[in-house]
Amino acid sequence: MPDSPSTESIAVGATFAHDRWLPGQRWYDARRARALARFLRRDLPRASFYAPYVGRPLAELPVVDKATVLADFAGFNRYGVTLEQAMDVAREAERTRDFTPTVHGVTVGLSSGTSGRPGVFLVSDRERRRWAGALMAQLLAPASLRIVARRAPLKVALFLRANSNLYETLGSSRVEFRYCDLTRPLEEHVAAVSDVDVLVGPPSVLRQLTTLVALRPTQVIAAAETLEPDDAAAIEAAYGVPVEQIYQATEGLLGVSCPERRVHLNEGYVHIEPQWLDNQGLDDERFVPIVTDFTRTTQLVVRYRLDDVLLAADGPCPCGRPGRSVRAVLGRCDDVLDLRGTDVQTVSVFPDVLRHAMAFARPNDYRVEQHGEIWRIALRGATAEQVEREIGDLAERLHAPPPKLETMPWPVEAATDKRRRIRRVRGLD
Ligand SMILES: [Zn+2]
Repeated sequence: MPDSPSTESIAVGATFAHDRWLPGQRWYDARRARALARFLRRDLPRASFYAPYVGRPLAELPVVDKATVLADFAGFNRYGVTLEQAMDVAREAERTRDFTPTVHGVTVGLSSGTSGRPGVFLVSDRERRRWAGALMAQLLAPASLRIVARRAPLKVALFLRANSNLYETLGSSRVEFRYCDLTRPLEEHVAAVSDVDVLVGPPSVLRQLTTLVALRPTQVIAAAETLEPDDAAAIEAAYGVPVEQIYQATEGLLGVSCPERRVHLNEGYVHIEPQWLDNQGLDDERFVPIVTDFTRTTQLVVRYRLDDVLLAADGPCPCGRPGRSVRAVLGRCDDVLDLRGTDVQTVSVFPDVLRHAMAFARPNDYRVEQHGEIWRIALRGATAEQVEREIGDLAERLHAPPPKLETMPWPVEAATDKRRRIRRVRGLD
């Protein structure tokens, strides 16, 4: 059956209806639309969950999330691997820290869950190689490429909460990876990173590292946590290079930053539909991405609603790359707190907005947890009065009464936990 790119182009185009979601270059979109159409025709029917939807356009397929996939894990992969089988392999690998076992010849990855159940995913060797290639191609800045040309190998330190043989794919004679296991104290890794060229890790870890060792890397890349402006500034001041960013999830490599500090979505591989978060007319530029990866054929990622909030960017990026970009990855959906508005509706307090307000109180660090009507706050280097004033001003700007604030002791956080300064433990009823 021949491709029908025109029909699919229309379907793809229709999902980009929002005016901020500007179309990319026409050739770029047409090529992606063909790849997506081929994926839907050839690969979608291989997963039993999609049996009732064969032949339907993307827009008619159900939007799924982590809970949907975990509830019918076997239905979303072409081998019918069950969640129990995948979890057994992943847990054994975590326990022994031997990340070579596979099931049906497929690698099982386990993402560090910040709350609830961890994410589990299956990838084939081919998908791993493609992921590694995309990552390397997008990450290696000219300065790093010069090192490869002049005196390979390029030394890359990866700070990770959980290893997987996903990362072992990356090693080669030109690039040497040093895996720094975050279940070990950070001090133990200082010797291993003393001569590295590229540092990759969660921003809270990279920032902590600046207090332990003076380094002169050619590239510093934040991953796995939201890159907050204060961390980026501290890391840049210490290491003298701009902090780059990769946006990645169990759902694959979703974006990388550019010199203009936007995050370019990985549209060569994934199709992203924005689900706009309208905040009572106060806000229309934040969205939750719904992702379809048309290159993954082992475990299908089709209209998968991520748990992230992104900040849209206006127009094409000045850096000149084709495709869509966002200004920032703001955090997870449950980093969005809520306040009772003047009417019965609630007003969302987005994490970037709250971070901005907190910055005026100038704490060295803080945690904010919403428990219904009450926001519990832990502070280092600022007073509760300063914070109360800033949050009061913020609530006023949002036309909402301020939340009830309580101080709480500094929460216990394991080194392997993702740092989350703002968290909605329980929202308003
Ligand atoms: Zn750009």
